[in-house]
Amino acid sequence: MAALRGVGIGQGVATGPVQRMSEALPAPEQAPSTAGAAAERVRVQEAISHVAADLTRRAGAVDGAAAEVLEAQAMIAEDPTLADEVEERIAAGSTAEWAVHDAFAGFRASLEAVGGYLGERAADLDDIAQRVLARLRGVPAPGVPDPGHPFVLVARDLAPADTALLDLDKVLALVTTDGGPTSHTAILAREKGIIALVGVGDATVLTDGETVIVDAASGTVTTEPTAEELERAAARAAERRAADDAPPSPGALADGTPVALLANLGKPGDAADAVARGAEGVGLFRTEFLFLSATHAPTVSQQREAYRELLSAFAGRKVVVRVLDAGADKPLPFLNDAHEENPALGLRGLRALRASEDILREQLTALAEADAETEADLWVMAPMVATVEETAYFTALAREHGLRTAGIMVEVPASALLAERLLAHADFASIGTNDLTQYTMAADRLLGSVASFQDPWHPAVLRLVAEVARAGGALGKPVGVCGEAAADPLLAVVLAGLGVGSLSMAPAALADVRHALAAHTLDDARRIAAAALDADDAAAARAAALDAAG
Ligand code: PEP
Ligand code: MG
Repeated sequence: MAALRGVGIGQGVATGPVQRMSEALPAPEQAPSTAGAAAERVRVQEAISHVAADLTRRAGAVDGAAAEVLEAQAMIAEDPTLADEVEERIAAGSTAEWAVHDAFAGFRASLEAVGGYLGERAADLDDIAQRVLARLRGVPAPGVPDPGHPFVLVARDLAPADTALLDLDKVLALVTTDGGPTSHTAILAREKGIIALVGVGDATVLTDGETVIVDAASGTVTTEPTAEELERAAARAAERRAADDAPPSPGALADGTPVALLANLGKPGDAADAVARGAEGVGLFRTEFLFLSATHAPTVSQQREAYRELLSAFAGRKVVVRVLDAGADKPLPFLNDAHEENPALGLRGLRALRASEDILREQLTALAEADAETEADLWVMAPMVATVEETAYFTALAREHGLRTAGIMVEVPASALLAERLLAHADFASIGTNDLTQYTMAADRLLGSVASFQDPWHPAVLRLVAEVARAGGALGKPVGVCGEAAADPLLAVVLAGLGVGSLSMAPAALADVRHALAAHTLDDARRIAAAALDADDAAAARAAALDAAG
């Protein structure tokens, strides 16, 4: 009956017996090598190559983010800086085991000191070090247990290699003591639709075989559940399965008020999955994701091909493409070359594009060419717009390139507050709640230490959303939400109640949001939204909405 708390990924609920991940291999002793440096060097090289090859093989067995994570791990295993660190220790007389253990630990400490996104990569290094050690010792690498029945997997932090290959028929849910909402475990769990809770510090008290309820929606693990709690969890799980299995219908509230459900995509290859899950179109195509590793601006023809592939998958449907959003968490070397103390407040988004207008013009040219060759309804929008002047600049430039529908992202409080004036110059607005929350709450979205401030439920953020929706309504211009907030089913109802007409999210979230919208009429949604707006803080807004939703 006790509840342990963590950060839930997705909305699922599962019940089952705990099975803990096998413990890490013990650290090696710091004893001098008896075999000599040459022999240790050969051993370590063989072990690292073996591990890198194994990770590459695993990457080949999966796709999407899982493959990318595993490929990145294989590259880290063979990182030359790490190899130099290992070599230094072997040259000084260490065993291969100690050299690997100590060099990886040093690298881990420096990543943790940086914190944020890099800090969360520390678990990746631990996993690689364990795999190399296991190879050196001739024992199996620590991995996911197989008790012979379905189980709730409890681990410190799952290695990406293990998360990627989890057998979803056996693993009912995943609970980790470490990790935050941006850790690889969380990213992969979200993509695979695994019911998961990360950052459950107290999960160390769980023992093999005890039955727990893992509820990602409320972020809790219930130990010693009562019969009634088990029944309620089973009913919710069955309801979700039914929602998942139902043929996808267009998004609508219970009274039939349409709320279009769109997909957030980062590459054209993800379009088929979005269509299968019932996406009515694309609400945010993040073009910068195509070019994150490029050192030079992509050519018009390279871009045209990518956009053509995307648009072809959505003939007759709306596809909102965002022009390159470079800077801060997504720097592009060809757009952000200057060092900035506060890149989130710097020359990013449309500001960076304006500073390199040729690149923006080329992108609009490629989009117009792809549009001419396909049947989708292409809308283009600019990121990080802060002023009326920027709005007028972008929409005029888009029209000059022959693009019919041009809008803006509302991610800066200034544009939300003056939405009606900005929208006078644009065809639509899409609210990016990730950045809008970051700037409203003055909380870096990449920083774990201020993660509690980064909550789109905060009534200050909701008020800004309400103002943009009101402005859109007054001018008859569509307003949607494409930040992570749209993927939270109850918050989606609130957004609809505030007057938002479309919600765009990771395709895996579509079924839950569709289901939540269908359970409330527009009047309900307005009442639930009013309750949330009236609260003092994010937690109170969530609680008030939950209460009002009955
Ligand atoms: C946002 O800021 O909410 C958004 C959708 O854009 P991104 O997450 O790509 O910054
Ligand atoms: Mg943004």
